[in-house]
This record gives sequence, C-alpha cells and structure tokens, in this order.
Amino acid sequence: MKLRSQKALSLLRRSLTPNRPYHAQWLLTRRCNYRCRSCSIWSEKQGAEEISTDEVKRGLDVFRKLGVVEVVFSGGNPLLREDIDEILDYASRFFITTVYDNGSLAVEKIDALRNVDFVAISLDTLDKKKLDYIKGVPGAWEKAMDAIETLQREEISVVISPTISRLNQHEIVDFTRYFIKQGLPVLYCLYSYDYPTENRLFGIGKKIDEFELTDRGVLAKICDELIEMKREHPGVFITTKVLDALKQFSLNGQRTWKCEALRSFFIVDHLGRVAGCHLRQPVTSILELSDQWNSERFEDLRKEYSRCDRCTYLCYIVYSLHANIWGNLEIVRDQWKNMRLLRTKNRQVPSPVNDLSFRRS
Ligand code: SF4
Ligand code: SF4
Repeated sequence: MKLRSQKALSLLRRSLTPNRPYHAQWLLTRRCNYRCRSCSIWSEKQGAEEISTDEVKRGLDVFRKLGVVEVVFSGGNPLLREDIDEILDYASRFFITTVYDNGSLAVEKIDALRNVDFVAISLDTLDKKKLDYIKGVPGAWEKAMDAIETLQREEISVVISPTISRLNQHEIVDFTRYFIKQGLPVLYCLYSYDYPTENRLFGIGKKIDEFELTDRGVLAKICDELIEMKREHPGVFITTKVLDALKQFSLNGQRTWKCEALRSFFIVDHLGRVAGCHLRQPVTSILELSDQWNSERFEDLRKEYSRCDRCTYLCYIVYSLHANIWGNLEIVRDQWKNMRLLRTKNRQVPSPVNDLSFRRS
C-alpha cells in the first residue's frame, strides 16, 4: 500500500514536470509465436539476441531519471522473455505499466502479470474465424477469450486492444459496447503500415490492402460514436481529443498535431537501441540516453521529426497530441477512470466467454 501511494505521488510529480518524455515503448523481443497478416516481425530471420535483464532494469532507471511516466512493453510477444516476471515487477514499482499479449501466454505467465497496471490483450473481433484469420493461427480467438476470462477472475487489470482496420470497421462500436458492459476498457490501435525506408529501427506494419481503411466517412463515424459513448461510460480508452483529431484527419486529411517523437515519447528495441519512433534510425543506446536527452543533436532531431507526417500509428498520434502537461494529465485522468472501472466491475460481471450472445461463429 505504501509503495502504491509512493508510486502515485511520484507519477503525479513527474506528470507535472515540464519538458520530459511521458511515454516509452519498449519492444523487448522480436520473437513471436503468432503469424499476424499485417505484421512483419514474425517473418524476419534474425538471431535471438536480446538485452539482458540487468540492462533492462538499468534502462528503466534511466527512464526514471528522465521523468518517464508510462511504459508499454510489447514486441514480438514480450511474455516470451524468460525474465518477464522480473522486468514487470521492477517496472510496475515506478511507472504506469502496460504489457501486451496476443492472448496466447497470459494464462501461463499469470503470476508475472499481477502487479502491472494494464494487461492489454490484442483482440480485433468477436468473430472467431475472422480473428484466427487475422492472427494466422487457429485457436487464437479461443485463447484470447480464455485469457480475458482468467485475468478477470484473478482480478488482474485486463484491457482489450483491437486494431481498427477494414476487416472490423463496421463492428468496432458494438465490440466496444460489449466489452465496456463487462467492465473491460477498450484500448485502440489503428491499422497502419511502415513507409519504405532503409534507415529505420525496425519494421512492424506490413501493407495489406484488405486491412486498409479506405472509406474516410466510416472512420469519422466510428470516432463520433466513440465520443458519444465516452460521454456516458468509462471504458472507451482513448481521449476525446484524439478521437476529434482522428475524425478531422479521416475527413479532410488535415493533421491537427505535430509529431513529438523524441520529446513526448520514444521507443527502445530488444537490443536497447533508442529511436524517436520505430520508423526512424536509432540515435543512441538506452544506457546513454540521459546524457543525450538535452543535447543539441536531439533538439535538431526533434525539429526534423516535428515536420514529419509520414505515419498514422495511433500511439504516436496520442502522445503527440497530449505532449504538454495538461495533455499528460488528460491521459492520466483517462487511465485513472479505466483503472477504477476495472476495480469496481471486474469482480461482478459475467465472463464474456460464457455470454454467447455476441459469438458469431
Ligand atoms: S502483431 Fe503482435 S502478435 Fe501478431 S505477429 Fe506481430 S508481434 Fe506477433
Ligand atoms: S510522424 Fe513521427 S512517429 Fe511517424 S514516422 Fe514521422 S517521426 Fe516517426
């Protein structure tokens, strides 16, 4: 309890500190046990080399020194790391900590997940066959739903993380309604793909026509409906500001934000290399980051990135739009509301797996 209130106070203090990064995403591994159609990670041929546990912890100490508030662990599947329990335990003491799983490992690794703030399970649809198709693995839907049910039962904070694409655009509002009725927040990604470049940290998103959102009106309508739903319910885990910006962008292509890569957010890979985003080249290593943070070189890079408009990855948009102190506080308020929703409802609700009303296949 004492540790929790110390953490809350420290997070508040950091949120109110100007000119420090809010969000760091650490892609701890390039290993993955799934074969998602829109992802390039699993098809890479590369060694299993990864930064050690001790170096990850030292990197997290660097985050603290810089004033980072929120850490997201992803991959690959970060739960494939043998030391994930130690990493999550350490990170959860200091940061709002989220870890991603594709739904396949959360049950097996459940003890590692007990202290994190959010376990995000990737799930794009309530249609079993469709999810298995998207993930490229038979049984993916059953596993994800089982993971959600188990985490809920164990009172671990689970959030549902769909990627909005052409394959699920018409069901995403009902999908959201379904889960928030169960007391489960929904945290969105938007289908996006990497632009061709040699000088990037690594690739994630693959261009697949059937995923691409081509009807501008549909995305704008989703934003409108989520804004409306958000007025009445916690659980739509994206701020109204982002939904408004996304709506404008989908209707007229106008970006109402400047990219804040390497200022408000940055990314670290499995080898401890740091970049503004995964589409930019590495600029330093995690252990040298605090020496570089206030350098002229980093200021020049920030200026260059702020003029960039080459990607629409939703997490980068979120932390660009919410880059200042007030913006940070809006995110913290959203997170707090969703944590409260989880705490108050997780224990009482019927499990989604047992409620068959939404199963379509
Ligand atoms: S999207 Fe995630 S779960 Fe799917 S293959 Fe890529 S890293 Fe693995
Ligand atoms: S817009 Fe920002 S996050 Fe996207 S590629 Fe450019 S620098 Fe990276």
